[in-house]
Amino acid sequence: MVDIKSDQIIETSEERKERFLLEFEKPFKCEKCNERFKKKKYLREHKSEVHSY
Ligand SMILES: [Zn+2]
Repeated sequence: MVDIKSDQIIETSEERKERFLLEFEKPFKCEKCNERFKKKKYLREHKSEVHSY
């Protein structure tokens, strides 16, 4: 059997590092607009300001 990994998304190590840092620094993501926040409090404030209706 051949282990084929070509269908996986290929990332450069730079991109991987960047994404990791981003997720590490801003772990709280708004699921409505995908914006990221450093603190849960900011996310909550963002949601109440931008997505409140
Ligand atoms: Zn949002």
